[in-house]
Amino acid sequence: MAEFQLPDPAVRVAGAQEIARDLVVVPNENVQLVPNIGVVGGTHSVLVVDTGLGAQNAESVLAFARDYARGRKLYLTSTHFHPEHAFGAQVFAGEATYLVNRAQAEDLSHKGDGYLAMFRGLDPAVAKRLADVRIPTPDLVYDTAHALDLGGRVVHLRAVGRAHSKGDQVITVPDAGVLFTGDLAETGQFAIFPWFPPHDTDVSGLRWIEVMAGLAASAPRIVVPGHGTVGGPEVVEGVLAYLRELRDETWTRRDSALSQDTIIEEVRAVLIERHPDWAGREWIETGVACLCSEHGDVA
Ligand SMILES: [Zn+2]
Repeated sequence: MAEFQLPDPAVRVAGAQEIARDLVVVPNENVQLVPNIGVVGGTHSVLVVDTGLGAQNAESVLAFARDYARGRKLYLTSTHFHPEHAFGAQVFAGEATYLVNRAQAEDLSHKGDGYLAMFRGLDPAVAKRLADVRIPTPDLVYDTAHALDLGGRVVHLRAVGRAHSKGDQVITVPDAGVLFTGDLAETGQFAIFPWFPPHDTDVSGLRWIEVMAGLAASAPRIVVPGHGTVGGPEVVEGVLAYLRELRDETWTRRDSALSQDTIIEEVRAVLIERHPDWAGREWIETGVACLCSEHGDVA
């Protein structure tokens, strides 16, 4: 985490783009710790996907959503509990119904405070964004899947963790073929492995591969990644290919009984050579360490 060099992670709602009928994305414009944020409308309700980091960002997202909704009822969900996705939800209290999967609600209550402290320690701009943050408590919690009727449009919320986190959730808008993946997918960077033993070892490379294979098979038309550029099915397929590559390069060396340090060094060199333009090289190391701890069939 020490390799982070962060610009102020400000959400820019002015950049909002309509990617389907009554469905806009506030793009992260490749700023670290800014997520892609979704606003999905139906005839009587509007769903906001992710809050941005901290109360001030969330206030601008809420103002944008309120404006966009023009009197329609507001719902909020977050793709997972990580700070730039969920640590602004307090601002929506009383204005929107905050709805998430149970595993994510548990991540918030079990790990929220630890992540708040860790992120405050990353960088002064981040600490400032998180100054007034309280870990939010969702209004409604579902177990594995929930169909949210926005009026003339039903949005599907589905728990798919554990993968990037224990409480990963994907949101699909079937009539528009849109899939919000949260941090299960990013573009232009190495997949984020929040593997921080002994504090957090919930990320699973193997489960993540399984989840991405399932999402690829569902053939989404438009994919909104957690960070990076909105695209088509190639976004999901690209992450799946990378995760398999990471697993295979790691396991080949583990099977040759190399030390973990040597495995990390070699896999890092190979993957940087194959993806020279990608950001987030620090996540290769945590990805290798995670996969070194996992065992299973190659699929
Ligand atoms: Zn995340």
